[in-house]
Amino acid sequence: MTKHIFVTGGVVSSLGKGLTSASIGLLLERRGLRVRMQKLDPYLNVDPGTMSPFQHGEVYVLDDGSETDLDLGHYERFTSSPLSRESNYTTGRIYSSVIQKERRGEYLGGTVQVVPHVTDEIKQSVLNLAKPDVDVVITELGGTVGDIEGLPFLEAIRQIPLDVGRENCLFVHLTLVPYLKAARELKTKPTQHSVQQLREIGIQPDILVVRAERPIGRDNTDKIALFCNVEKRAVIEEVDKELSIYEVPIGLADNKLDQLVVEKLGIEAGPLDLDDWRELMGRIRHPEHEVTIAVVGKYIEHKDAYKSIYESLDHAGFHNSSRILVKRIEAEDLESQGPEQVLAGVDGILVPGGFGHRGIEGKVRAIQFARECEIPYFGICLGMQTAVVEFARNVLGFDDANSTEFSGDTNHPVICMLEEQKEITEKGGTMRLGSQPCVLEPESRAAQAYGADSVDERHRHRYEFNPAFRQQFEEAGLAATGTSPDGTLVEVVEIPAHPWFVAVQFHPEFKSQPMYPHPLFRAFVEAALARHQQRAHLPV
Ligand code: GLN
Repeated sequence: MTKHIFVTGGVVSSLGKGLTSASIGLLLERRGLRVRMQKLDPYLNVDPGTMSPFQHGEVYVLDDGSETDLDLGHYERFTSSPLSRESNYTTGRIYSSVIQKERRGEYLGGTVQVVPHVTDEIKQSVLNLAKPDVDVVITELGGTVGDIEGLPFLEAIRQIPLDVGRENCLFVHLTLVPYLKAARELKTKPTQHSVQQLREIGIQPDILVVRAERPIGRDNTDKIALFCNVEKRAVIEEVDKELSIYEVPIGLADNKLDQLVVEKLGIEAGPLDLDDWRELMGRIRHPEHEVTIAVVGKYIEHKDAYKSIYESLDHAGFHNSSRILVKRIEAEDLESQGPEQVLAGVDGILVPGGFGHRGIEGKVRAIQFARECEIPYFGICLGMQTAVVEFARNVLGFDDANSTEFSGDTNHPVICMLEEQKEITEKGGTMRLGSQPCVLEPESRAAQAYGADSVDERHRHRYEFNPAFRQQFEEAGLAATGTSPDGTLVEVVEIPAHPWFVAVQFHPEFKSQPMYPHPLFRAFVEAALARHQQRAHLPV
């Protein structure tokens, strides 16, 4: 019998529900259980693919091409739960399914209502993950208890224990215990109120995970237990981690959360094995080097807009004994100030993916600086396309070279729309998406990094390297070292004469884990470290 864990959040958003859910997933896997992770998002977009990163942070792409919430990135970094389209549902998606059914006549004769039709659809999306080879499904509910949009989801998960048995379900509620400086006190009232709201809906949480800036202490957790009607040992404090998000599961394990979950669900599980995770913490705590990487983007001030890029850089740092200092650079700043000023002292430059014209010229300047000053460069998606534009303008001498995304009338459209995209008019879920095979040139930097000549990577784009210019690029020193198996789409370009200049059309950041850093990130950070060390030995 598959067990269900529901993770809800209260008091405020951005409490780290995704991290907590992923950490629970990791702890259960490390006790030998087979876990599936899922996120339910109450907003009305069918998926987050049409949202600006300013709204919702990064859009996380899965192998099957679904565009999902960034919390699924945490799930993939922490667990081995296979994710697919079934792993992320929004209100928009649930409603479109209900409305399609209504049009097909599946509810013929009936009035279609939130309860039971919408709630049944939500329940089904959760119960579909319960399979004979799955021990535990962890379903995280986006938003905060009390949000209007979230009500049908809460109602649906309230009903699930009636269908599968209360003993097979566990409700974990995450809240905040704020510290009031003026009163010099930690406050438990917001937690009490948010649990009260849950109980009004009919959900009695079994476990409370309470986030706090500083240790909460037994008096407070006992008080929370009493007022929220949960066992004392089921109030688990989760104090902010300064070192790394990868400490979160260790903190929860130290507070015996895994044992509590296993006991309350009545699951037989093996002993917890977190040795490698703890060992990783040791490495994170004592890095031998510091490497500065400039990330030149346009959603820089949003902390989660390039979430997977920052995480992947960290992973690569863990495996190069380095702490990565990320210098977040607004591409537009490079248009008003010179790259010498903005990029002084960095050991590597990365331009991530993006859409739209803003900041493009700044990215081109950053790439020119990396190429000419032999600073390791890693371009991802738009960062590959802008590298091609830069090379065309400044090496091939095509002054007006551009991507047709930004200039329709250039004589040198070195990046152009994918053939398959030309007839598409709808915006949602219509890009070239998901995992695609790529064949690498043996001996290329990319092939060396991967230790393989063929790889699968995830995509999300409408534009591509224009093959009409390929030969001119190759002759001038920008090699196409990775292509689709039929050779038509260029997926990787490199400058062999540069210490490390690799740019890829795909998104390697979606396949990096703390224990298994992505090979390209690892090689990029290695090159940046080499440059750092070389510079340290130069006479001043
Ligand atoms: N805007 C570019 C395209 O659609 C790049 C996309 C991206 O960086 N994800 O091809």
